[in-house]
Amino acid sequence: MPLFLNLTRGNEIGANCYYVEAGGTGVVLDAGMHPKLEGRAALPDFDLLQRRPVRGAFLSHAHLDHTGSLPLLLPYIPEARVFMSEPTYHLAEPLLHNSVNVMKRQREERGLAEYPLFTHTDVDRCKEKWQACHLERRWSLEGFPVKADDPDPATFTLHHAGHILGSAALRLNLHGESILYTGDINFADQTLLGRATLPSGGVDTLVIECTRGAQPTPEGHTRATSTAQLLQAIQETFDRDGAVLIPIFAMGKTQELLALLHHAALRGEIDYEGLWIGGLGRVFTQIYDRLADTAPGRIRRTVLGTEVQPEVFEIRKAQGFRPKPGHIYLLPSGMMTAQTTSHRLAALFLQRPEHAVFFVGYTDPDSPAGHLRATPPGGEILLGGDSGPVQVRCPVRHFDFTSHATREAILEYIGTLQPRRCFLVHGDLPALQWFEGEIRRLHPSIEVHIPAPGREISWN
Ligand SMILES: [Zn+2]
Ligand SMILES: [Zn+2]
Repeated sequence: MPLFLNLTRGNEIGANCYYVEAGGTGVVLDAGMHPKLEGRAALPDFDLLQRRPVRGAFLSHAHLDHTGSLPLLLPYIPEARVFMSEPTYHLAEPLLHNSVNVMKRQREERGLAEYPLFTHTDVDRCKEKWQACHLERRWSLEGFPVKADDPDPATFTLHHAGHILGSAALRLNLHGESILYTGDINFADQTLLGRATLPSGGVDTLVIECTRGAQPTPEGHTRATSTAQLLQAIQETFDRDGAVLIPIFAMGKTQELLALLHHAALRGEIDYEGLWIGGLGRVFTQIYDRLADTAPGRIRRTVLGTEVQPEVFEIRKAQGFRPKPGHIYLLPSGMMTAQTTSHRLAALFLQRPEHAVFFVGYTDPDSPAGHLRATPPGGEILLGGDSGPVQVRCPVRHFDFTSHATREAILEYIGTLQPRRCFLVHGDLPALQWFEGEIRRLHPSIEVHIPAPGREISWN
């Protein structure tokens, strides 16, 4: 009997890792690290894979919550190869090496004895099992292309998912069972990346992300309205001789914002003196540029390094730093996690009324970014370190540049696809429950599950 198993430790946005099996062939879907938890608690429960017939693993995209625990998965699945798109193949390696560096720093600064959970050597060894696969082609779980009419009983195809460069949905055909795992998806165009192109039928079992399930999309909201609001807020900051700090994820969001600001400047809608990114942002930007012509789903081929020419902000040289009027600082991390560049510089912006701090992505309410957004103007925030309480004197705003599909678009897709069953993953409980309720109401013939961690769900 085919089965599905949630290998994460909670029904929440958290880390992604799932297992599907049909006809005695098993595949692991993603191997993420929980962004908020520490140590072993942040990892999926790989012990659940013992004695299972795992023949392959798949990475949907190179974000930590989908890729961050991969080196620790590999010892559990010695026979399996790890499949992904070509951009993910290039992006995941620096991501994991950076993760080792972060864990080493955390060990020193916070005395976390079990860190790093894996080493640079583990990452290099793990990479030997990776295979980059072209999208929209049929592959065997041994990693060979399979012709459309070949009766191979266990094959897969990757589809463009529209979330970040290289993000892909996986369609598995295991012994007559057709399974689609979306990873993170986006059904709207961004500046560099076009919307997802997913199958429109023929899927028995759908495993779908629910990140925005608890967020109704405001009437009239589009990426264009967010863009206009952001550009206006930046211009107002420049008009009072201020600088803008945008805490941002180094991969995906940084490159999209660079392109968005650059094209706005070409159209004369904004006039900045300088654009800054972090060191890790540069590493990922170079990969975006290298794959500008070949990466699937690109709708603009803007080469960011040469056309936009962002400057690289080095935190090591930040002693005595003062934000420059007319400059925009796109610095990680997006949630202002302790000790990251945006966290360390935030006070310099917040204490001066001419500057501004703008968020452009998801901020967890428990993160420093979440705390800052909840602090009223003029209020005080504790950012940690030796700075003491910091008074918020400059504007702090949020603009919605999500790279996830709206819940309405996902629901519409489920309605079009009409799978037999649907597993709801990668959402906090209210988000999962919203989808569960709506699917039952609108499509009562679809069997819908919120898969509890560690509990096998099988069907005929
Ligand atoms: Zn993602
Ligand atoms: Zn995700």
